[in-house]
Amino acid sequence: MFKRLRKDFQLSIISLMGLIGVLGITPYAFYRLMHGNYLVGIADSVFVASTILAVLYAWRTGDTVKPGIYLASIFSVGSTLIAINLGVNGLFWLYPLILFNFFMVSPGKAIVATLLILTSLVGHALWVPGSVFESHYQMISFLVTNTVAGILTFIFAYRTSSQRDQLQILATSDPLTGTRNRRAMDEEMKIAVSSKRRHGKDYGALAMDLDHFKQINDQFGHPAGDQVLIDFVELIKSCSRQEDRLFRFGGEEFLLLLPDSTTEGLQAAANHLLQRVRQSLRGPGGAVTVSIGGTTLRRDESWSSWLQRTDQCLYQAKSSGRDRCIIEAPQPLGSPQPLP
Ligand code: GH3
Ligand code: MG
Ligand code: MG
Repeated sequence: MFKRLRKDFQLSIISLMGLIGVLGITPYAFYRLMHGNYLVGIADSVFVASTILAVLYAWRTGDTVKPGIYLASIFSVGSTLIAINLGVNGLFWLYPLILFNFFMVSPGKAIVATLLILTSLVGHALWVPGSVFESHYQMISFLVTNTVAGILTFIFAYRTSSQRDQLQILATSDPLTGTRNRRAMDEEMKIAVSSKRRHGKDYGALAMDLDHFKQINDQFGHPAGDQVLIDFVELIKSCSRQEDRLFRFGGEEFLLLLPDSTTEGLQAAANHLLQRVRQSLRGPGGAVTVSIGGTTLRRDESWSSWLQRTDQCLYQAKSSGRDRCIIEAPQPLGSPQPLP
């Protein structure tokens, strides 16, 4: 649990804010229900219960976006109502709320939320004079300081989120070819394994290794080899489906992950790729070919065992002459095959 909290910042901030919300509001809910203020008491209880549900949802599904939007919305509405009810004393809550929203949702959504809160408060104050602010001067000061706080937080959050996106791209892509790297491959294979386990979704994998690639480097230099790798990636991308994912997991070794693929589909895809590479991939010394090994994911197997089986098929394709594909036959129903 602590490991997950440490790894997933968004989940930890949702849990923390959920806890603060629940601890802060529950005593008021009890107090109001005991003193017969049922309307507010029930509203408080609904707030507490739905906050707990949102946090539980985030923990169960790993989706922090929807609970984030939900919590930002109810906290914003709640703080606005408190400010309207308590007047000046309630206004101080809006400063931490602005920060809170930027932690919960994207910077664009958070700045919109800030503007909506300010507009509702000022709108209410103008509609019922004296209800929120004690003077026009106070209202304008509040508006200006909140807007400045909102804009500064927006700039900071926007910068952080674009840096995080850049970091994510750098951490998961291969600088030479632009494909996803080994780290991204491990993650996607893990996702495929859990999706197969939970929903029975089919996945296929094709491991591809360029034939006699070392000779290209030796005869024409490393840059010539690099260009072949770049051309290979472009070619594979141009003839695979949009949902297929290509990864470079070794020097001249690639893996194509194909969702919704049965053995027959995998065989057809591999034949097609093999033929296209043979026809179109050219190095400085002439045609370059590829060897391919393919397997489909079995239920209840680990991603490392899947990768190992796929690699073994590739090895067979290499040892039986190269420029060919070996696709593993499907498992006979009801008899799980032990790994060789
Ligand atoms: P095989 O048909 O058995 O696959 O033979 P091969 O020569 O392709 O296989 P081997 O594994 O012996 O050679 C792979 C070569 O790929 C060795 C390494 O120098 C080269 N290589 C690895 N990464 C890069 C890269 O980023 N750029 C270039 N140009 N070469 C690379
Ligand atoms: Mg090779
Ligand atoms: Mg190799």
